[in-house]
Amino acid sequence: GLEVPDKQVKSVCPYCGVGCQLTYNVKDNKILFVDGRDGPANQSRLCVKGRFGFDYVHNSERLTKPLIRRSDVPKNVDYIDFDPANPGTIFREASWDEALDFAADGLKKILKENGGEALAGLGSAKGSNEEAYLFQKLIRTGFKTNNVDHCTRLCHASSVIALLEGVGSGAVSNPMGDVSNADVIIITGANPTVNHPVGASWMKNAIKNGTKLILLDPRRSELTRHATHHVAFKPASDVALLNAMMHVIIKEDLTDKAFIESRTENYEELAAHLESYSPEAMEPVCGIKADKIREIARLYATADNAMILWGMGVSQHIHGTDNVRCLISLCMITGQIGREGTGLHPLRGQNNVQGASDVGLIPMVFPDYQPVTNEQARHRFETLWGTELSDKVGLTTVEIVNEAYNGNVKGLYVEGENPAMSDPDSNHARAGLAKLDHLIVQDIFLTETAYYADVVLPASAFPEKTGTFVNSDRSVQLGRQALDPPGEAKQDLWIIQEIAKRLGLDWQYDSAEPVFNEMRQGMDSIAGITWDRLQNESVTYPCKEEGDAGSPIIFTDSFPTQSGKALLVPAAIVAPDETPDQEYPFVLITGRQLEHWHTGSMTRRASTLDALEPEAYVAVNQRDLLSLGLEAGDTLKLQSRRGEITVKTRIDDLTPAGTVYMPFCYFEGAANQLTNAALDPDAKIAEVKYCAVRISAA
Ligand code: SF4
Repeated sequence: GLEVPDKQVKSVCPYCGVGCQLTYNVKDNKILFVDGRDGPANQSRLCVKGRFGFDYVHNSERLTKPLIRRSDVPKNVDYIDFDPANPGTIFREASWDEALDFAADGLKKILKENGGEALAGLGSAKGSNEEAYLFQKLIRTGFKTNNVDHCTRLCHASSVIALLEGVGSGAVSNPMGDVSNADVIIITGANPTVNHPVGASWMKNAIKNGTKLILLDPRRSELTRHATHHVAFKPASDVALLNAMMHVIIKEDLTDKAFIESRTENYEELAAHLESYSPEAMEPVCGIKADKIREIARLYATADNAMILWGMGVSQHIHGTDNVRCLISLCMITGQIGREGTGLHPLRGQNNVQGASDVGLIPMVFPDYQPVTNEQARHRFETLWGTELSDKVGLTTVEIVNEAYNGNVKGLYVEGENPAMSDPDSNHARAGLAKLDHLIVQDIFLTETAYYADVVLPASAFPEKTGTFVNSDRSVQLGRQALDPPGEAKQDLWIIQEIAKRLGLDWQYDSAEPVFNEMRQGMDSIAGITWDRLQNESVTYPCKEEGDAGSPIIFTDSFPTQSGKALLVPAAIVAPDETPDQEYPFVLITGRQLEHWHTGSMTRRASTLDALEPEAYVAVNQRDLLSLGLEAGDTLKLQSRRGEITVKTRIDDLTPAGTVYMPFCYFEGAANQLTNAALDPDAKIAEVKYCAVRISAA
């Protein structure tokens, strides 16, 4: 018969940045089922991940005891003998005291012998704001370095850099649901049906009510069926297309002159730069007919209200920052910002990637994006934290692993991230992890990264702790504890503090609430949000004083830049780092899929989701399969200059001929073994959306 829950706990979804509110229905410390709640971002809707992806927390592979690496097991780069269900092949069990002492002693030794710059931390956007805040505080005050980063580097670092430079704030200007108020929406480099499914429901309902969708994407997607225009430009030619659109808008006098005059800087330079980007000149570069470029440029510019949303197809390039600079300029020269149904919305991937960035889990800024190089900002946090802080910008995610490979980073604390799967050119990343003298991994499963660990600390899953999270809309929401962690697994706040205490820091936070209150002291943007208020509602920052209603739509009359104006930054065409040639003739695009989330550590252990999509694949256009003499279902060998993998193929006519597509969540066919680690010079984001591969029968 149907089991009846003995408690219902209000929380939020642990997966994507939409931030759907949900209820855990629990009996005897077990989640029976999940319901959608009426939150501002989801109005009770949930997608398949949110509704059915919860039983990873009860998976038999959960880590329940601290583990220390056996002295007879070397760190081979290949995963010899790795079985996440049998930690005993690599590790021995230890008590918490022994494991924590071991973890801290390894850090102290490196700190004493090599200094703080030889240490680094990778925190997580899967954790709460309070966890992310304490983690970066530990790295900055205990490790004495700013070498702290998280997965934002691999997803929207370029968006954040361009937005901070252009409009003074790295977050969205308008919430996702505001598409209902737009006459036109541009979605580019994103597949919301798959990656932000409840967000996509807002978009489809807006379209039903008359909103026009311009979809700019080399691949087709389910949203193509809803689009007024699908503009399938050549992969990586975003700047050519967007510059040509702006060229049309200027030449045809469709700009918003009053807005440009009063709210922007550098327009003359931008306009001069765009002279040479006529649609005719850009047609061969981006593969889109000049007339089509004119048509979509006019549609966007002349709409009463138009909104731009983008994803990692835009950001994950060596010209990712330039791509976003173009989106910002397009929005500014048409004045499509500061009102309902307008603005700029980078669609956030992980449920707390916005919050983790806000609270300073990035190497160049303290909480609230206050630069580590700014003396006033440093002084503020030195006073708040009672210690001296480094003014040296720290290493980013890919740089940390590179410097581990080079021997300059010797100790690394990884909390809830999986760089062995998520970093580009993962064979190189894994070799870097294997070279570390001391690797601490704190997680709920024995991830691929944990294979290289010296010590593994069993942590708590999302429903096993309480904390605040910020969704893609800048809404601060409370996730509440519904379960006790299994076995000896502990809450992350406790583990971080135990490491901190062993490094001589006297921290006494007995729950998330005092951490949140300390955050408010250092972060003006959330200073007005009280813990009490979050019990009953989501609050959208900026919320500077108690009683502020919050600010879902920003930039209504000025930008938080020094001049109060937006800076227009011209961008020139930059070719991808590696282009197809005779030896490697195909372009590989990597991404996600509906049922799995990021490196799959949770969703591949959620029984329903794993049953829906159980195996790795590469999506290939039918024409390419035919020309290679291959059939759907064949096992293929994919090779790049960096690695080779073997996976089954699927016919996929969403992907254009000459291009293949792979989700990166499958360990047994890990797409990142092929990808290119070349970095965008401004944001240090890697070009995982474009590299050259060859395909053959396995
Ligand atoms: Fe969770 Fe995102 Fe799905 Fe909502 S749309 S249920 S936040 S994965």
